[in-house]
Amino acid sequence: MSKKLKRTPSKQGNYFCMGIIILLLSSLLGIFIFQIKNIKKLLKKKETRNAALLKEVQKVNMANEATRNFLSLTSHDIRTPINGIMGMTEIAVKNLNNTDKVLGCLKKINDSSNHLLSLINNILDMEKIESGKITLKQNPFDIEELIHNCITIVGGQSIQKNITIIKKTGYLPHPRLMGDELHLRQILINILGNAVKFTPEHGTVTLKVYEENCSGRKALLRFEIEDTGIGIRKEFLEKIFEPFAQDVHNQEGTGLGMAITKQFVDLMGGTIQIKSKLGKGSLFTVTIPFEITHAVIEKAEKISEPDLSGMKILLVEDNDLNLEITQELLTERGIFVTTAKNGKEAADIFIRSKEGEIDLILMDIIMPIMDGLEAARSIRSSNHPMASKIPIIAMTGNAFSEDAEKSKKAGMNAHLIKPIETEKLIETLAQFWFA
Ligand code: ADP
Repeated sequence: MSKKLKRTPSKQGNYFCMGIIILLLSSLLGIFIFQIKNIKKLLKKKETRNAALLKEVQKVNMANEATRNFLSLTSHDIRTPINGIMGMTEIAVKNLNNTDKVLGCLKKINDSSNHLLSLINNILDMEKIESGKITLKQNPFDIEELIHNCITIVGGQSIQKNITIIKKTGYLPHPRLMGDELHLRQILINILGNAVKFTPEHGTVTLKVYEENCSGRKALLRFEIEDTGIGIRKEFLEKIFEPFAQDVHNQEGTGLGMAITKQFVDLMGGTIQIKSKLGKGSLFTVTIPFEITHAVIEKAEKISEPDLSGMKILLVEDNDLNLEITQELLTERGIFVTTAKNGKEAADIFIRSKEGEIDLILMDIIMPIMDGLEAARSIRSSNHPMASKIPIIAMTGNAFSEDAEKSKKAGMNAHLIKPIETEKLIETLAQFWFA
């Protein structure tokens, strides 16, 4: 009995122990599974972090590589026209008695300078696109007029090569459109310019435009530019939109035109396609949607140059050549010019001047001793009676949009980019002179 009594509790105890062990084991198993899950989660997190880090490293490497390529390509492309300018100048100097030869050299210097400028403008356009700074404007424009304009612009090149440009305007029920006329013009001129450039003498370039479809207030325009030129290799077609890509080496080109064109088309919500046959020619097709408008399009009237004679300008420029060119441009219009070669000298001249002795300041930015921004700040904070009113216009090679912002912050009224376009300079001066 006692045995029985003893056995029963021990059996119960065993069950109890086993229960506890099972419970312990299952909780251990639970903890184990939970930990494994946690470890798995941690590993996954680490993996994603590593992948993200790797992506970042790859991105930085790619950016570095792109910068290196960009610098080597641009430095080559910039050196070529500079080489031309220097070489031609040397030839001209040696042949001063031969007017024809000097004129020929000057023409080539002018061509190289224009090419250099367009290269720099293209690089700036690329920079603006890549940093997302291009904003599309919405202005009313007439598509037929724009087409006519583009053909006139490339007309000069085509006459030289005896190339016929054919304009075919198809179904255009809504000629007045709303959109970014400037960028559309650039797209068409880039494609038309190439078509002329890569078509041998006596060839043909055809520009066809028509409204492909219309829904509500939106019209989809289709532009087809076809040439009878040298054509493009299939392998090159795949990279034609990459910056600096060139298949046919051409001194006049930069290899940026097509990259910019594609970016503009994308920005405008359009498409671009190319079909080409080597030795036969190419067909570029662009479609872009525009809003239909009935707004009246104001035509810019050509007005005669405003009379600025008698104006008194303080011209601040450290570069002798630029100083001479701008001074000449101003004095031949009857403007009185005082010059300063750095910001400190300019600020001193202004602060010492009597009211009315200086009407406006044209200020370079990068200068020794004191730069233009600092000079503008010191003029604005001076006790001169005109300290806050005197117009200060930046005239600088700093062409990025942040630069214009900096000039504004320093208290300047306008920001002109070098090389200075005479018309733009005169227009800006008149704006303040007649204000
Ligand atoms: P580029 O300033 O060199 O013309 P683009 O970006 O405008 O640069 O064009 C890139 C390259 O594409 C050209 O150098 C040329 O090799 C090729 N290309 C562009 N358009 C044409 C065309 N209509 N016919 C033949 N080749 C072309």
